[in-house]
Amino acid sequence: MHRLLKRQIRKYLSQEEQERFKDFLFVIDSAYAGFDTDIKQIENVLEKSSQELFNVNRELQISLESQKEEAKTASTRLKSIVENISEIIFQANVEGEWLYLNSAWTHITGFDLNDSIGINIFEFMHPSDIDLCKIKLKRLIDGEEVDCQGEVRFVTRNGSYKWCELLARVSINDSGIVTGLTGFIKDISTRKNLEKEKNLTIEKFKLIFEKSSVAYLIIKEARFIECNNACANLYGVDGKENLVGKYVKDFSPEYQPDGSKSSDKVVEMIRIAKENGYNKFDWVHKKADGTEFPVEVSLNPIQLSEGNILFVALNDLSERKRVESELILAKEKAEEATRAKALFLSTMSHEIRTPMNAVIGVTHLLSEDNPREDQLSNLNILKLSADNLMTLINDVLDFSKIEAGKVELESIDFNFRNFINNVAAGFHMKAKEENLDFIVEVDPKIPAHLMGDPTRLSQIVTNLCGNAIKFTDEGSVSLKVNFSSFKNDNIKLQFEISDTGIGIPADKKDQIFESFSQADSNTTRLYGGTGLGLAITGKLIELMNGTISVESELDKGTSFFVDVELKTSMKSAQQVNFNDDYFKECSKIEGLHVLVAEDNPMNVLIIKQFLKKWNVTYEVAKNGQSALDKIQEEDFDMVLMDLQMPIMDGYAASENIRKLEANKYKEIPIIAVTASAFNEIRGKVLAAGMNDFVTKPINPEELFLKLEKYAKHYN
Ligand code: ADP
Repeated sequence: MHRLLKRQIRKYLSQEEQERFKDFLFVIDSAYAGFDTDIKQIENVLEKSSQELFNVNRELQISLESQKEEAKTASTRLKSIVENISEIIFQANVEGEWLYLNSAWTHITGFDLNDSIGINIFEFMHPSDIDLCKIKLKRLIDGEEVDCQGEVRFVTRNGSYKWCELLARVSINDSGIVTGLTGFIKDISTRKNLEKEKNLTIEKFKLIFEKSSVAYLIIKEARFIECNNACANLYGVDGKENLVGKYVKDFSPEYQPDGSKSSDKVVEMIRIAKENGYNKFDWVHKKADGTEFPVEVSLNPIQLSEGNILFVALNDLSERKRVESELILAKEKAEEATRAKALFLSTMSHEIRTPMNAVIGVTHLLSEDNPREDQLSNLNILKLSADNLMTLINDVLDFSKIEAGKVELESIDFNFRNFINNVAAGFHMKAKEENLDFIVEVDPKIPAHLMGDPTRLSQIVTNLCGNAIKFTDEGSVSLKVNFSSFKNDNIKLQFEISDTGIGIPADKKDQIFESFSQADSNTTRLYGGTGLGLAITGKLIELMNGTISVESELDKGTSFFVDVELKTSMKSAQQVNFNDDYFKECSKIEGLHVLVAEDNPMNVLIIKQFLKKWNVTYEVAKNGQSALDKIQEEDFDMVLMDLQMPIMDGYAASENIRKLEANKYKEIPIIAVTASAFNEIRGKVLAAGMNDFVTKPINPEELFLKLEKYAKHYN
């Protein structure tokens, strides 16, 4: 029996009643059992549903959680975007008061967000931009425009303004009512500043183009499309607007000075400009009135998006051409003046030297003609003064020639031993007169034959030896030639000229090489001289790429060192005894028979006297023609040939002698007698067939040495 029925029967029915209703209870019990089964079934269904409900609920909860999470992430992301975006995002009410601003507002304006919310947008706007912005916003709110866009200036915290771009739209609620504005504001100040700068630069370039004194123009398709006023002025057109649009060809003559057609040449010039990126050339243009004028044109092809143009700068050459022609004229004048100066110098050389020749010569003669003692001292003064004057003339001539860069060094073969011998010969005599020893030492390693300019080298050594003797009262003067090195046919020599004389103060050592400069202001009075000698010497050494230096001790003596490089000659060496005294005896030239070709009676007189003294016989010819005749009539050993003579000069006479048939005329030594100090004379003399020359005024030692040198041919 069902337990519930059992309990209730026990509670309400007695045992007899239970027996009595036994069948009925059985039926009830079956109903209970059926009911239990139903209940169990319902319970099962319920449990299943509850389980399902639970499951659904759980899933729902999970999905809700994840949706919540997603919403949170999205909101954070959005917030981060809004906060980090560089543009201002805003919301405002219809009055224009800020309702929302992101932090870009603070970045851009510097104002605090909390302080700004609730404040009207126009409070932050530049006064000049407010009105327009108000109109635009009104139209937006009134529904006339969908959005409002514009560039306005917002004030910043430091009081300056920033250009911003504003974009706004209206916010509408669910009922379709406008509740306010939403939008963003972008900082465009950098772009605006760049635009401003760009505009300024464009303005500047425009100004430069417009105001430049250089004529600029722009050509496109053979027309002037732009130009400045300088260009209009250059073409003689009134205002640039009258030039723009014109054709280029209208402003060029038909032909250019080189004969080419302007229209052809311009094509070529443009082609070169395109090839090289630019082209600069001279051009002849034509003004509006037809006058032609020279211009320097710079063509620069430029590629623009709207097509290619030529940017042209024109430089008026009229003034430069004028100055150029003036310069050419001035140069011609200067050259003419230089020629006149050279002519003057050579004339002066000749004109002064000829009378000086006479003065010196006659002085020599007089002093050798047994003068009285009082006459002798006067003659000595005369001789000294004349010598000084001659030196001065020579120095001035030489110096001006070197200064003018007219001195060209020769490179000829010469016998170095003979050279030293010749230079030394004069000084042996001079030193003897002054009671000084003159010592010559030449390094035997130096080859006998060298190549160089013996005349100029002699000038250098002579000058230094002359000074050494001049500034030495007692003791000795020495000329040493040291061999320094030898390389590739070049030989380095050092000339050392030392004396035991007055010395040079240390602070004057550099100064003495300057022109007209002497170590002591008393020098001229005590020793004579002009102060030009060392200047000339220094310059000649410089020309030879050599160097000069000086060592000196006051009252002890001076040494000059000259380092020069010469070339060795192919000729074989020749031994010379340096201790020979050439003036001991005249026997070496005694008995010579000389033809003296000289027109100046004074010179003739002087030469005659010397020759007589040395027992040399002579014959005089008064011009070149007479010399040519005489040489064929008599047998001479030598000819002394003056260069400037009437009828036939010395050059022509010498050339003619050399042309004569017999062999002896080809060999007979002809020595030129010349008043000119210039080097080129030497070349001319040799070219005319003469062997050597002596300079006027005739120095007896020099003449003697030359006669002796060539007499050797006959001994
Ligand atoms: P000059 O001899 O005509 O005066 P230089 O140019 O030859 O001119 O010499 C310049 C100066 O250098 C001389 O005046 C002299 O003061 C000084 N000088 C040159 N050589 C010597 C020397 N050997 N000893 C002393 N002084 C010298």
